[in-house]
Amino acid sequence: MLNVPSQSFPGPGSQQRAASGGRSKVPLKQGRSLMDWIRLTKSGKDLTGLKGRLLEVTEEELQKHNKKDDCWICIRGYVYNVSPYMEYHPGGEDELMKAAGADGTDLFDQVHRWVNYESMLKECLVGRIAAKPTAPKGLLPNRPDPPATESPASPSYDWFQTDSLVTVVIYAKQKDISLESIIIDHQGGSFRAETILKDSSYLIHIGLSHEVQEDFSVRVVENVGKIEIILKKSECTPWERLGRPLEKHGSLTPRSGAGLYYRKCRLVSKADVTPDTRLFRVALPPDTHLQVPVGHHVYLKLTIAGTEIVKPYTPVSDSLVSEFKEPLLPDNKYIYFLIKIYPSGLFTQELDRLQMGDFVSVSSPEGSFKISQLQELEDLFLLAAGTGFTPMVKILNYALTNIPSLRKIKLMFFNKTEDDIIWRSQLEKLAFENERFDVEFVLSAPALEWRGKRGLISPALLSEFLKRSLENSKVLLCICGPAPFTERGVGLLHGLGFSADEIHSFTAS
Ligand code: FAD
Ligand code: NAP
Repeated sequence: MLNVPSQSFPGPGSQQRAASGGRSKVPLKQGRSLMDWIRLTKSGKDLTGLKGRLLEVTEEELQKHNKKDDCWICIRGYVYNVSPYMEYHPGGEDELMKAAGADGTDLFDQVHRWVNYESMLKECLVGRIAAKPTAPKGLLPNRPDPPATESPASPSYDWFQTDSLVTVVIYAKQKDISLESIIIDHQGGSFRAETILKDSSYLIHIGLSHEVQEDFSVRVVENVGKIEIILKKSECTPWERLGRPLEKHGSLTPRSGAGLYYRKCRLVSKADVTPDTRLFRVALPPDTHLQVPVGHHVYLKLTIAGTEIVKPYTPVSDSLVSEFKEPLLPDNKYIYFLIKIYPSGLFTQELDRLQMGDFVSVSSPEGSFKISQLQELEDLFLLAAGTGFTPMVKILNYALTNIPSLRKIKLMFFNKTEDDIIWRSQLEKLAFENERFDVEFVLSAPALEWRGKRGLISPALLSEFLKRSLENSKVLLCICGPAPFTERGVGLLHGLGFSADEIHSFTAS
């Protein structure tokens, strides 16, 4: 609900969205950008009208503030006066008004729980919602963590030790787990292991009773749904207990309601790929285990002018097809991003200013794409525009390497000019060397001498391109780019007779 620049850019109610067809881009209303909002919050202006006081707000009081010029919203027990923010909200005023005078937590979690509203709206804080009289004394208004359920199907954990090792075992009680299902962060004695189980996540969060070494290993026994995390003791002494439980330890939480966890990663290299797109390589902390699933994204967080700003990015591999290369760098310790730097971009300008060794916070992964969608496919069509190419990188890599049933993978790549084509020579080389892969470039603003396809996504371009290798072959179409491109593309694909489950569009998470 708050600050949705990227997910649906321009936001559904935004001034930047075209009236119909989604083509023209109207600039944000003058003086109402995110940076302008940050400046306003730093100006010392009293944005709540309460002269710095914090109130205990009853539900009855909250309900009274339900108009545009007097709009209070409660998120996770904290009440904000969002009226001053109305005009700055890229999703539009109507979206905010949906939660006017009410608890907007669920709506917020559904739309963009990743936005750091605490930081963005700290000057709008009115106070906390008053605990209901029936609530036990001292109960915080925040929703309590769901209890660790004890039913046989719920995950559980155990630990055991030898002289030198401590093994934490998580029993996921689900078979379809992999190394991507477990995210481990171990920092300063705090051990955090999050197991992703379909739509929920199971958290082990413990302050370890003794020190352990930085490196640890992880093993997944897929067929029994067991995860083993092997820690090396710093000293070979017996442990009486694993440690003390920390926040949310043992909880099994729906993923949509769980906050995102960030770790600080160092920028280790940056290379130009096109005039405005760079390949960033960031190093995960040595004591983190995190693998981003194919087609999923993470959020990057930077503090800009004192406010934490978060934007989604889709990790790629270091190059288009890396399976035949000797890994020059240790596996899974780096995350690569292809990021376009926009001249007036709040986040990308700041990212581009980072020096090697500087930190950027990286969230745990999110996304709805499932590699099972690729199983037994015969035709895979990828439609990408600009940096909408990023999810296609790992999909292409995975499909070529792991899906023997695939007869053809075809990428149609839309860009403005030849210079804007990301990894053009790699794509052409791959198409030349691998007869299962074809690529077609389409330019919207080509030079006169361009002999290839030109224009925007259209029925003519698609119907010629989307030829199945066999009649009734099992097919998947993936589409990603600027939101209006994707929306138009999906509409055209339906028009061409493809069903919803044959299309995966990368839009909001
Ligand atoms: P802003 O300050 O938000 O905007 C400034 C100006 O930049 C705008 O006026 C406009 O001219 C231009 N602009 C900004 N955002 C967009 C946009 N999304 N589309 C077109 N023009 C825009 N980007 C990547 O480069 N690489 C990725 O891997 C990537 N992955 C993404 C994954 C997801 C799930 C989503 C939703 C978006 C992804 N994006 C990616 C876009 C990214 O999240 C930001 O929107 C983008 O980097 C611009 O941020 P900014 O703060 O610099 O620009
Ligand atoms: P861009 O260079 O501005 O555009 C790429 C191509 O798409 C150009 O040919 C452009 O034509 C065309 N295009 C733009 N808007 C269109 C529309 N409404 N209808 C048809 N064609 C259109 O793109 P970009 O700046 O790299 O932006 C990439 C987008 O992908 C961003 O919005 C980003 O948020 C999104 N993205 C999403 C994900 C995800 O959801 N997982 C991942 C990565 C990127 P014109 O010359 O006419 O503009």
